[in-house]
Amino acid sequence: MSMGTGTLHNYINGEWRVSGATESMPVMNPATGQVLSQVPVSPATEVDLAATAASIAQQDWRRVPPQERIQYLFKLKSLLERDFESLAQTITIECGKTLKESQGELQRGIENVEVACGIPTLMQGTNLEDIAQGIDEIMIRQPLGVAAVIAPFNFPAMIPFWFMPYALACGNTYIVKPSEKVPLTMEKVFHLLAETGLPKGVVNLVHGAKETVDAILDHPLIRAISFVGSSPVARYIYSRAAEQGKRVQCQGGAKNPIIVLPDADLEMTTRIVADSAFGCAGQRCLAASIALTVGSVRDDFREAIATTATERKVGFGLDEGIQMGPVITQSSQQRIHGLIEQGTQEGAQLLVDGRNRNIPGYENGYFVRPTILDGVQAESAIATTEIFGPVLGLMHVNSLEEAIALINQSPWGNMACLFTSSGAAARKFRYEVEAGNIGINIGVAAPMAFFPFSGWKESFFGDLHGQGRHAVEFFTQTKVVIERWPKTWSRQF
Ligand code: NAD
Repeated sequence: MSMGTGTLHNYINGEWRVSGATESMPVMNPATGQVLSQVPVSPATEVDLAATAASIAQQDWRRVPPQERIQYLFKLKSLLERDFESLAQTITIECGKTLKESQGELQRGIENVEVACGIPTLMQGTNLEDIAQGIDEIMIRQPLGVAAVIAPFNFPAMIPFWFMPYALACGNTYIVKPSEKVPLTMEKVFHLLAETGLPKGVVNLVHGAKETVDAILDHPLIRAISFVGSSPVARYIYSRAAEQGKRVQCQGGAKNPIIVLPDADLEMTTRIVADSAFGCAGQRCLAASIALTVGSVRDDFREAIATTATERKVGFGLDEGIQMGPVITQSSQQRIHGLIEQGTQEGAQLLVDGRNRNIPGYENGYFVRPTILDGVQAESAIATTEIFGPVLGLMHVNSLEEAIALINQSPWGNMACLFTSSGAAARKFRYEVEAGNIGINIGVAAPMAFFPFSGWKESFFGDLHGQGRHAVEFFTQTKVVIERWPKTWSRQF
């Protein structure tokens, strides 16, 4: 079903099906507050239908040679490119980010399809002859069976693509449970998946929320779960799915620090940090949310970032010249307002206050303008609470060592960035800092599709991350074969 105010359908076993859900939720345009559609909270019986169909389909799918399986992905890439603009618009309409940001995330998603097209090489095993005389040993990779992704709202297109193309290319069948806040993008993608001619049951779309997720976690036919979302839910999913013996990877929340050294290029640093903190309305898991200034750069950076924050053009992401859209829901807007207030109560000063400013023409939208809290105290709750909105906290320290120590005492470990012109400082930072994605003069250190998305600490639960070779390992199980063929058993040649 395309965009309208009706209820979305599930895609199970190659067919669009009306959900029998007794509960549905509205899908909103966060810039206007307009209801776009209703999403069903699919019950366990529908997860069962999808898992059963996927399990049956997997018997044949795993036998399709890898180089034939990837032909569907090549087709998918060309369809995603054909419909690029309309998909990007859908992302903006349901998620709120600017059209340019939507195009960017879609491009990142497509790159994962491209990498997964290398599966005939990436999925190869290893072997060694003569582990004892006349005995050979080979390691092969086989698919797991049925796998599923549970996705967050902030990247409706890209995040399912961190997993799905690899799962399919490796011979698994798949279930996608998009975020109930942004289900329309995946619905469009599933129309394209259907157009590729993939055999029925290979990919399935099941809409829903907690009830649906719990049914996925408990379903005995689903062997592997990929989750991206907030850390409390990540922890819950990790433990519940692992308890059932499933393979699980859960990417969680973040509070990402950046350090500005006195020798950084101030103009470039300010521009990049502002894009990181306020881009996607601060709703990236790799958004900069704490800036630690070191030594003499404090005042100049504070002034420059405040000016940049104030000048940012906020509005509906499809409108010309808009640099930042709304946050996802009204409750998110209220939560962010509350956390800004909490920051001031904990001793920070409001350098730029982005609350309660209407956007002309979009009075019903969930906007928060860029906000800067200065003088955030290291021991305050706001220093480590994920705000997930366009709010940057400023802290000041006297040395790089002090900054690194502060970062390393944080429970989070998704990203940390350093702005400097010193190679030695960069090397020390890269070596010592406890986070999985590191940027040097980079504000959003998002790994490309051929590298793992490497969160650490409370930002990740599991072992193998999304994307690239990690995804190939996650979606395959190894089998080791030891072979002996004595000469006496064969004709002499
Ligand atoms: P969320 O945790 O609220 O929801 C994520 C998914 O989990 C959704 O599909 C939702 O339906 C489901 N879910 C929510 N509550 C549940 C529950 N109690 N039981 C079972 N399932 C439940 O996250 P969100 O608000 O959609 O996304 C924002 C969060 O995601 C932020 O914390 C952000 O940092 C994080 N994120 C992390 C990464 C990363 O790579 N580490 C990337 C993007 C987003």
